[in-house]
Amino acid sequence: ADSQEMARAMARQVVRVAAGQEKADIIFINTCTVRQHAEDRAFSFVGTLKDWKMRDPNRLLIISGCAAERTKDELRRRFPYVDLVMGAKSIEKFPEIIAEALKEKFSWAKENEGMWEKEEKTNRAASAFVTTMRGCNYTCAYCIVPFVRGREVYRPLDTILEEVRERLIEGAKEIVLLGQTVNSYHHANGQSCNFADLLKAVGGIAGVERLRFMSPHPHYIDDKLIEAMAATPAVCEHIHLPIQSGSNRILSLMRRNYTRELYAGIAQRLRSAIPGISITTDIIVGFPSETEAEFEETLNFIQEISFDGAYCFKFSPRDATEAANHEGQLPQSLKEERLSRLLALTDNLGRAKAKSQIGRKVKVLWETHGEGRTRNNWIVRPLEPAQISPGFTNQVTIEAVKNRLLLGRLSLE
Ligand code: SAH
Ligand code: SF4
Repeated sequence: ADSQEMARAMARQVVRVAAGQEKADIIFINTCTVRQHAEDRAFSFVGTLKDWKMRDPNRLLIISGCAAERTKDELRRRFPYVDLVMGAKSIEKFPEIIAEALKEKFSWAKENEGMWEKEEKTNRAASAFVTTMRGCNYTCAYCIVPFVRGREVYRPLDTILEEVRERLIEGAKEIVLLGQTVNSYHHANGQSCNFADLLKAVGGIAGVERLRFMSPHPHYIDDKLIEAMAATPAVCEHIHLPIQSGSNRILSLMRRNYTRELYAGIAQRLRSAIPGISITTDIIVGFPSETEAEFEETLNFIQEISFDGAYCFKFSPRDATEAANHEGQLPQSLKEERLSRLLALTDNLGRAKAKSQIGRKVKVLWETHGEGRTRNNWIVRPLEPAQISPGFTNQVTIEAVKNRLLLGRLSLE
């Protein structure tokens, strides 16, 4: 979402997407620092750009985002050819920063036919992210987000609704509301508004066919929110609700502020209020001091809840976080072993869940020319070549599966 927001700010400055690296005057890299792996990948890419930059020093190389926020000085030292390092906390100021940088560097606008990618690629996404808040007030022991993004700041309701309307005008059919604990949203602007109110307000805008949100925190899921989800037709029958671990001792060490029992209760209430809802989650294995028995609690919790999908991660110690300094750091080999056992379980479960969709008639909103999504978040491809257009919805009968992918036939009605 941040990348898209910065791309829009650049587009207002007559910057267009170039047809490949060699034709580009600017390379802009937005980075993530949640896990070390993400940061390493971004920085090794910056390393490969040295030649590109040296061949024409008039080129502009920009690095932004959370890894840039975390390692500003190190970045400048390691890659002195980078022109601009902009941390995640400065994203609101990006329009001015980029305008200034462009003015300093370039004497265009030089319109050059054949330089640009087709517009279609950058715009007109069927599904659009809309940021509702920045930062996070939690202090999960493993997490670097609060350090690089600061405390929660909520965008005013009017601003959010206005942005939703802009995305609809550009062609979006689905809106995904984003925040680190998206359901802690509250805003007082004359009248108070919490996340349930926000969902209803966005869901009430004509043209919002589908509404999703990410990531809710279990602590802020109450009956009012479940009711709002059930009562707002645009809200999709899917929730991505990170659990992180199935062990109460680990959850408490993580400072997650809920237990597995509380989570199980929420899952049950969601399923009875919203029939057919998919529940997906995030899991971290190998948190410091996690025992074999505690890891197995995570495995059996996954079966107990019968998740529809899970993003699974090895614990990555992040500088300055509490968990990085915990005793009992587990060896890499053990984390890898647990991750592969977890993946084997979630893959099997995912495949079985996918198979259970066979025979169903579902509405698919196409996101590309080859692929779309059901309301409960399964990815669907047409079984035989079909005329499908991003942004359009078709009735599809699911006839086969390929791992977690559903394959279906378009109905002609
Ligand atoms: N705010 C969201 C999570 C954002 S980070 C929430 O609280 O649910 C996305 C996911 O990355 C987390 O859910 C977690 O599973 C994973 N993650 C975060 N920090 C991590 C770390 N240090 N090591 C491994 N995985 C991590
Ligand atoms: Fe990180 Fe926890 Fe905040 Fe999510 S809620 S961003 S995991 S500190």
